[in-house]
Amino acid sequence: MIEQRHEDGSLRHLITLEGLRREEVEQLLQRSQRYVCAPGARPVRSQALRGIQIANLFTEPSTRTRVSFELAGRRLGAEVVNLEVQLSSRAKGESMLDTIYTLQALHFDVFVIRDAEPGVLAHVAGHVSPQVSVLSAGEAHLSHPTQGLLDALTVRQHKGHIEALRIAIVGDLRHSRVARSAYHVFRLLEAHEIRLIAPPALMPEPDEFAGCLRFTTLEEGLEEVDVVMMLRIQKERFSAAALPDGAEYFQRYGLTPDRLARAHPEAIVMHPQPMNRGVEIASEVADGPQSVIRSQVSNGVAVRMAVLETVAARLTA
Ligand code: ASP
Repeated sequence: MIEQRHEDGSLRHLITLEGLRREEVEQLLQRSQRYVCAPGARPVRSQALRGIQIANLFTEPSTRTRVSFELAGRRLGAEVVNLEVQLSSRAKGESMLDTIYTLQALHFDVFVIRDAEPGVLAHVAGHVSPQVSVLSAGEAHLSHPTQGLLDALTVRQHKGHIEALRIAIVGDLRHSRVARSAYHVFRLLEAHEIRLIAPPALMPEPDEFAGCLRFTTLEEGLEEVDVVMMLRIQKERFSAAALPDGAEYFQRYGLTPDRLARAHPEAIVMHPQPMNRGVEIASEVADGPQSVIRSQVSNGVAVRMAVLETVAARLTA
């Protein structure tokens, strides 16, 4: 596993939540909370990252993650540049590392990378200059650490202590980096119970998600849960032949108001988006009173501000 810390123990990269200590995650969440912006309020701004250059390199599509990393950097006074990597030099055969070396020569300090191939982030982190940080914006099906943090922040805001909670993660668990990072953070914060609910074909391998309870029907799995975390069907990560038909999937695994009624009456509903409405979730639920999907989006900026501020602390000291 890649070493994510500097020699003095401070956080340098954030590629995975695996291996982080509970107090490190708590600190990031506390710092994020300072940047949370109430609806209608003006966002918190500072010049904490003045003079820092951040490059967003995305080789897979993204809306929320890219925009929120960009806003996070700008709200802290950094200069942020977005590169659609498949459209620029990488498409002409230049490797990711060559792109990184070019950007390093232009004095970039932080690289925010999303890539579909496992291992690219650690590879880049292993080759950048000592003062440079690499942050994951989503790596293959493996991890999405800032999403895990924003999910934990959202659950805390709405439900208080994570220790008391039964959390259900529902849907395409097999292909989901969101689910893997959620699992790591909720386990670290000692959730009372984590349930996985999926059709057998979308369940992760038995050696993953240790300690979780597994259910193959929503009706059983949702009984009395406090948090229902829905996942998108990741069509791009399976072969066309293995694709479940949308309408049929919704019949059995779609989150409808009736099914949600099995959960605790004050349960919250989450989704990382983009949503397939009418496939994994009914619009009445996605837009209903128990949905916290929009607070997940605004918390995404706060969490990314906290992460950027943490890794860039040495550069601005
Ligand atoms: N936006 C999230 C991700 O990048 C979730 C999704 O795409 O389903 O993983």
